[in-house]
Amino acid sequence: MAVRISRPLLDAIVAQARAADPLECCGLLLGRPVPGPEHAALEIEIVERRAAANVAAHPDRRFEVDPAVLIAAHRAARQGGSAIMGHYHSHPGGEAIPSVVDAEMARAEGEIWLLVGKAGVVRAWHVERGGALHGVFEPVELVVSPHARLAPADAGRHEGSAIA
Ligand SMILES: [Zn+2]
Repeated sequence: MAVRISRPLLDAIVAQARAADPLECCGLLLGRPVPGPEHAALEIEIVERRAAANVAAHPDRRFEVDPAVLIAAHRAARQGGSAIMGHYHSHPGGEAIPSVVDAEMARAEGEIWLLVGKAGVVRAWHVERGGALHGVFEPVELVVSPHARLAPADAGRHEGSAIA
């Protein structure tokens, strides 16, 4: 399994993390599942991020996505918008590795968690039962393409050839 994201989108998330430092930043990842190379495995393509306020009581060491942003994204998805594939948050001064607290929050199997660690290191994790980390998170490859996504009409034909 892999998570695909464009460089501009990834840069925007890292910039948000840097701006929020020393607090944790967070937001939603919108996108869709796409067939992987030779249909070997499903991939997740992130096409949009939605920044959200971190409404946790201690945003220096916890994160909680603003529920209003979550509700609006769910509503938009029902009306034909991109699906919520997961979310991202940062660990200012820490590693891009989910913590034990993160593991306690990870209840939805199949979600993608993107973490931004110190120095802008980004790693992607997939929530699944029996995952290698805390029994919940499995590390997944983050495939960064140089450009933003193609128009939806063309998207089905570019898989596997976007990075030439
Ligand atoms: Zn965390």
